[in-house]
Amino acid sequence: MSGALPILEPRPTPSFYGLSRPRLSERLAGMGVPGYRADQLFTWVYRKHRRDPRGMSNLPAALREGLSQVCDLTPPAAEAVFSSSDGATHKFVLRLADGARVECVSMRTARRLTFCVSSQVGCALKCTFCATGLMGLQRNLAPEEIVGQIIAMGDFERWQDDRFNIVFMGMGEPLANLGALAESLRILHDPMGPNLGARRITVSTSGLVPQIRELATLGLQVGLAISLHATTDALRDQLVPINRRWPIAELLDAAREYSHTVGRRVTLEYTLIGGVNDGSGDADRLAAFARALPSKVNLIPYNPVPGLSWKRPTPAAVEAFAARLLPHAPAVTVRNTMGGEIWAACGQLGGLSPQA
Ligand code: SAH
Ligand code: SF4
Repeated sequence: MSGALPILEPRPTPSFYGLSRPRLSERLAGMGVPGYRADQLFTWVYRKHRRDPRGMSNLPAALREGLSQVCDLTPPAAEAVFSSSDGATHKFVLRLADGARVECVSMRTARRLTFCVSSQVGCALKCTFCATGLMGLQRNLAPEEIVGQIIAMGDFERWQDDRFNIVFMGMGEPLANLGALAESLRILHDPMGPNLGARRITVSTSGLVPQIRELATLGLQVGLAISLHATTDALRDQLVPINRRWPIAELLDAAREYSHTVGRRVTLEYTLIGGVNDGSGDADRLAAFARALPSKVNLIPYNPVPGLSWKRPTPAAVEAFAARLLPHAPAVTVRNTMGGEIWAACGQLGGLSPQA
C-alpha cells in the first residue's frame, strides 16, 4: 500500500438557502457565535430581503466580515427570464452550480401571486403527455435549490407581495425527492424566516403512495394535489405509468388518509386531453371519485408539447365536461392556462424556449 493520503477537496461553503434555522445556529455555534444570531440572519435575509452582510447593522462587525465562511448568501442566477406579453407570467431558467438548468414560473392574477417551483431536474416517471417526462431524470434538487427558486422569483418581483402561494408543479416529482422537499418546507414555514403558512403551499404528485403516507406523518400540513388524469386503470396505466405500481384505488385510499390526517381537502388534478379522457363516462366516474373523499377537482386543458400528438380539447368540450361534473362533484375549477406562449404552462417545462 502506498502511504499517500487521500486528496481532500476543500468543502464548499453551504448555501444559506438550504440551512434551516437550527442548522444555521449549529454552524454558528461551531464558530462560537450565539444561536440568536441565526434568528437575526433569517430576519435580514427572508423578511428584509437583504443579501449583503455589510448592511446587517445589528450583527457584530466580525460576524459580518466572516459570514462568507459560514454560508453563501448568493442567490441562484437567472440565466434567462421569459415574460408573457401581458406581463403576468414569467418563466425563469436558473443555472445551478453544476451547470444543470432548472425552470420555475411566477404567475400574477388580480388576486394573488403564485410561484410554481421545480423539485428535480427532469423526471423519471415518464408520463406520456409531459415535456419534463421526455427529459428523463438528471438529478434531484437540493433544499437550497428549491428555496433558491423562490428567492430568485421574489427578488425579480421585488417582494411586492409578502403573501404568495407556492405550488410544487414545476419540473419533477416532488415526492420522489421527499427529503429535500421536507427540508425546504421547514425553511419556508419558519416564522422567523419566510413564514409561509401551510395553506399557501401545494405539493402535486403523480401518485407515489408510500411517500404520500410519509408526507402525512411529517406534520407539514401542506395541500396535496393528485395528478389523476384518468378514471380507469387501463387508461391511467398508459398516461401515468407509475399507475402500474400503485393503481387508482390504492392512490385514492392514500389521498383519503392524507386528507383525514392533515384535515384538508385534496385536489384531484385532471388534465383534459381531447378524445382521450374527456368523455361523459369519464366525467361521471371522476365525479364519483371526487364524492368519495374530501376533495376538489381541478381541470387542466392539455397544454401541447412539441413532438407529442396529444390534443387540447375545444373550449366547448372543456365546458361540457365541467358542466357534467359540477352538479355531482363537491367543487370544480378549470385551471386558467397562463404562460402557454412562453412554454411556461403546466407540463411544458423542460428546455422548451419561446422563438427568439
Ligand atoms: N410531477 C408532479 C407535478 C408536476 S406538473 C405531478 O405529476 O403531479 C403539474 C400538473 O400538470 C400535473 O398534474 C401534471 O400531470 C400536469 N401536466 C403535465 N403535463 C401537462 C400538459 N402538457 N398539459 C397539462 N397538464 C400537464
Ligand atoms: Fe414527472 Fe409529473 Fe411530468 Fe409525470 S407529469 S413526468 S410525474 S413531472
